[in-house]
Amino acid sequence: MTDSVVNSRTINRSGLIPNSYHAKFATRRNGYARERPINPKKSCVDQGTTALARADSAKQTMQTAARISGMDAMGPSLGMAFRLRRLEVQSELAHLISNQPGIGRADVARITGMARSTVSDHIQPLLDTGLFNEQKARYAGRGRPSLGLTLNARAGIILVADIGITHVRLVVTDLARQKLAEDALPPDYSVPPETMLERIASRFQELFQTQQLVDIPLRAMVVGIPSPVDFERGVPVRPPIMPGWDGFPVGEWLEKRMHVTVLVDNDVNLMALGEARSRPPSESPLIFIKVASGIGCGIITQGGALHRGADGDAGDIGHIRVAQASGLTCVCGNTGCIEAVASVPSIMRQIRVAKGDETIELPELGVLVSSGDITAIRLVREASAQIGEVVATLVNMFNPACIVLGGKLAHMSDDLLSGVRAAVYRRAPPLATRRLSIESARAGRDAGIIGGIALGVDSALSAHGLQKLQEATPGTAGGVGMAD
Ligand SMILES: [Zn+2]
Repeated sequence: MTDSVVNSRTINRSGLIPNSYHAKFATRRNGYARERPINPKKSCVDQGTTALARADSAKQTMQTAARISGMDAMGPSLGMAFRLRRLEVQSELAHLISNQPGIGRADVARITGMARSTVSDHIQPLLDTGLFNEQKARYAGRGRPSLGLTLNARAGIILVADIGITHVRLVVTDLARQKLAEDALPPDYSVPPETMLERIASRFQELFQTQQLVDIPLRAMVVGIPSPVDFERGVPVRPPIMPGWDGFPVGEWLEKRMHVTVLVDNDVNLMALGEARSRPPSESPLIFIKVASGIGCGIITQGGALHRGADGDAGDIGHIRVAQASGLTCVCGNTGCIEAVASVPSIMRQIRVAKGDETIELPELGVLVSSGDITAIRLVREASAQIGEVVATLVNMFNPACIVLGGKLAHMSDDLLSGVRAAVYRRAPPLATRRLSIESARAGRDAGIIGGIALGVDSALSAHGLQKLQEATPGTAGGVGMAD
């Protein structure tokens, strides 16, 4: 027997992912094939794994345990850390099953490389909590009919509140991302944030009543806001257009009001996630750029996750300094920001001055551009070229597979697309542009909602989400409450 055979057998029996599955395995999200990378460190620590794998992953697991429990990194016991590792494996399986409805245990074992007994050990808690069902699949000839695992869509609902400058959209979905109810509110930033959030919470509760959803447990609530957000704390930080919200604990306030895990994120981040989940995985890494009242971007990694940076402020490109804005004051208080020359309000200011008409609004600008008005087209093209220069710098840094342009300016004119393309292909290195695609947004006004739903479902099926579910389900096998 060769070493490689010994290794392969050892790995499979111990529950490790075999090498052929290390890189990626295909799953489906939102109807599109996605490849979710399996981190062998995350998936292998299980009963009977090697000492090396245990040592390698122990630190990471302890940190996860500390984050979930709120304790110091040295605080949780090793037993707790390993129970949380079980939850992480169950979370990987939950995502796999939710993306491949009807999959049997044998296929789960084949795809993950785990032993059948290990798969069963991890799947039982998912069945005990009612999150998944196992039913007879279509009878396919001889032998016993096989059993298929499916997500119980009604095991929970996800709430998304997309708070914008001109709109507040509310959506309720099940865990299979099917929309159950939808509503809208006019935003009002003249009132304190508590008042606005109470209106949103009350409207959701009205929807539960009218749509007969009161008996379905809430699993997660996602809130998108047009502001830099400290994602870990769920707090907006110095929002330029809603100053009364600065530092207000939006996530904490809503968690107390709604009794559910609340995730608060920047609106452009959610749009980026929605756009990425509406496209094949080969189009990530992806950068989504929104040009509207401000200029912002959301960054999606190769694995399909949001990159928020150390403090949640990654992608706040509107305040990058450009030469053309020199001396111009920006809403942030600095001078020279790209937003001061190329955002929609800045273009509106310039067209009003050029035309000597203070009454021109965005629809009129759209008409001027589409009817071939030279001044309007020039202003839009100049703004687009300046944005293109900034995007070219992002390409140098991030080497994305796809750049997506959204927001009012992208919807109004193709000049943004051509301006960005021209600047990027002129400025970025050939290797970074060889396979780069630069396109307009596909998900449209639903992008933020699609991203919010994705974030909510990911949260419900995360190790933390499963932990909460198992704690709420007495007698669940394999949960954190289980004795050593
Ligand atoms: Zn600025």
